[in-house]
Amino acid sequence: MTLDDVRARLQHWKGIAIAKTSNPVPGDGNPHAEIVFIGEAPGAQEDKHGRPFVGNSGTLLTELLATIGLSRDNVYITNVVKFRPPENRDPTKKEIEACMPFLRDELAIIKPNVIVPLGRHALAHFAKDVTIGEAHGRPLPSAEDYAVFPMYHPAAALHNPGLRQTLKDDFRALGTFLASRKRIAMSE
Ligand code: URA
Repeated sequence: MTLDDVRARLQHWKGIAIAKTSNPVPGDGNPHAEIVFIGEAPGAQEDKHGRPFVGNSGTLLTELLATIGLSRDNVYITNVVKFRPPENRDPTKKEIEACMPFLRDELAIIKPNVIVPLGRHALAHFAKDVTIGEAHGRPLPSAEDYAVFPMYHPAAALHNPGLRQTLKDDFRALGTFLASRKRIAMSE
């Protein structure tokens, strides 16, 4: 299975109501990425272009990546839910569960070393008993092959400018974490 197979499956999939009223938005970026960023669900711009994080949140995410020397081509960016919920409402449990196989397949193909859940919906899939306020900015203990490094969603910093510095600080911590993992891998 390849990412193109996942994309092709999404094009025809109508398993939930919003898949019939909005466009599929598969993940995007480097299929060999070491790091995968996972948002909540596409918004209006993403629905229009069929690509994740191309609106205001995406602009901020791209800026934050640049602060640690990464571009969108270095990483893979995707969402838990692959279709836009109307009026940007929160995705329902049913929508999240129905879309989860697509995310699972993306991760199985890419096999990243680090996963960054952006915001509480993505975090909930990787850690049950912790809030984003508690977990952001450092790696969580993970039983999987990948590390989980939660962050606030960039949209949160657009609504609450006080969080912008927190996100910047968390990206700096992520950069340090990635560099330390590389050093460990090289010395093994
Ligand atoms: N917010 C998300 O969670 N995902 C997107 O793709 C865009 C905005």
